[in-house]
Amino acid sequence: MNTPKNSQVGNEYDLFAFAQKESEALKERLFELYILYNLSKNLNVSLQLNELFHNTINVLKESLKIEDFCFMLIDEGCNELKMWKADDSGFGEIKGITFKVGEGISGLVAETGEPILIPDTSKDPRFLFYKGTMPDIGSFLSIPLKLNNDKVIGVLNVHKNETNAFKDTDKMWFMAIAQNVAVAIERARNYEHAQRISMVDELTRLYTRRYFLESCQREYSQAERCGEFFSIILVGIDHFKYFNDTYGHMLGDEVLRRLAAVLKLNVRQSDVVARYGGEEFIILLPGTNKPGAVANAEKLRSAIEKDLAIEVGNGQKEKVTITAGVACYPADGKTVEEITASADRFLYLGKKSGRNKVVSTATDIKVAIPEKREANRYLAALKIVSGLHQLQSIEIKTDSTWNMCTIKDLSKMGFRGEVEFAAKIGNVYSGKMILNTDDHKSDNFSIRVAFAKRMRQNRYQIGAEIVDGRDNWKRLFTQTTH
Ligand code: GH3
Ligand code: MG
Repeated sequence: MNTPKNSQVGNEYDLFAFAQKESEALKERLFELYILYNLSKNLNVSLQLNELFHNTINVLKESLKIEDFCFMLIDEGCNELKMWKADDSGFGEIKGITFKVGEGISGLVAETGEPILIPDTSKDPRFLFYKGTMPDIGSFLSIPLKLNNDKVIGVLNVHKNETNAFKDTDKMWFMAIAQNVAVAIERARNYEHAQRISMVDELTRLYTRRYFLESCQREYSQAERCGEFFSIILVGIDHFKYFNDTYGHMLGDEVLRRLAAVLKLNVRQSDVVARYGGEEFIILLPGTNKPGAVANAEKLRSAIEKDLAIEVGNGQKEKVTITAGVACYPADGKTVEEITASADRFLYLGKKSGRNKVVSTATDIKVAIPEKREANRYLAALKIVSGLHQLQSIEIKTDSTWNMCTIKDLSKMGFRGEVEFAAKIGNVYSGKMILNTDDHKSDNFSIRVAFAKRMRQNRYQIGAEIVDGRDNWKRLFTQTTH
């Protein structure tokens, strides 16, 4: 902001007028920022071209109060500008009008990628009044629809009947709008193309792994050629198997859908979000370096921790968290495979060091890395019987107190259950079994807690493996698959 010089101001009244003018200008800027924010928010959710068109029109008409405008898109097949859905935009009369790239003002803007402002159309012989179909246009502004890589895909034309209706600053403002629209159009086109060739996952409506890998390969070639960088974020849901086992696959699917929506909402339009595998998601961030990608991953992690809670019945909600591995080209690998493997390794480290975190380096985290990911210990739920005596519960000793553990699931090497103390992952506790007799088997095995999650106040879900006394455990229980 410019401060007024004494000679300019003269007295207090001038100072007041100056401040008022500055404040008006500031208000205008804020309003413009608000409109841009609104526009990009609205455009971000539209993946279908039809829906995108209507959202764009609505924002321009309702928030900006602009009535006379149209979009013309380049048809690459014939190198011509054609109206984008003239039928729906209220410009029936110019529906069939096309311009060769280079022809008229729109054609020139499409060719050069530079905006053109005509304050008085009657004085500019280049202006063709849409080949004579709209003779009343007084002032005209044509803005290129440019992608991030400067490729022009069409133009946005805004007109007014009166002359000198646009200020020079309007050019910048409409450029910002046009860029948002261009990127959204390109994204919607890519999306529709991907849909056509089944590259979209049915459950989550995200891209598939195949589409991701193809995009990644394209990005890699460009980055390698031009010495640029890009990042990927690999996301895994924490304890998702537990969620599926406890609440069923349908609710598990709901988690996947909701999570996908949060991911899409929190990345840029040009980023590619895909379902990588069952409960793993992957995001390609073109032109983003490591700190940028880590910040984005952290934003995703905290948005999910804060907002993603699934209604699981009885008014109860279960929170969902994710762990993310972030890797960048060229710092973490020389090929797409190497970068993906680095992200996978960082994700693994995040899981091993407590989950609900973002990991982008191996240096701070000290975990032994086996060749392959450890197999899940609780894949099989077994019904365990002991002759006449059924197991009722298990008790676990903390300090000198025995705590009841309500059993949910047993397997040959351990169990899952609920306890009322803050069980720590990795801690070894003494355990005893409570049978449906008075016959308590004291201290006859030890367990190591492999998984612990706080459910509500003073209530924890745990998964534990038997680390000592396995023979007693086996002798007591005959296992039968159920
Ligand atoms: P961790 O925190 O270590 O990742 O533990 P986890 O329980 O998430 O373990 P893991 O990643 O091995 O669990 C993957 C689970 O994802 C197993 C499978 O039941 C579930 N899953 C995979 N695809 C789908 C799906 O399409 N729908 C549902 N509901 N579940 C799925
Ligand atoms: Mg998982």
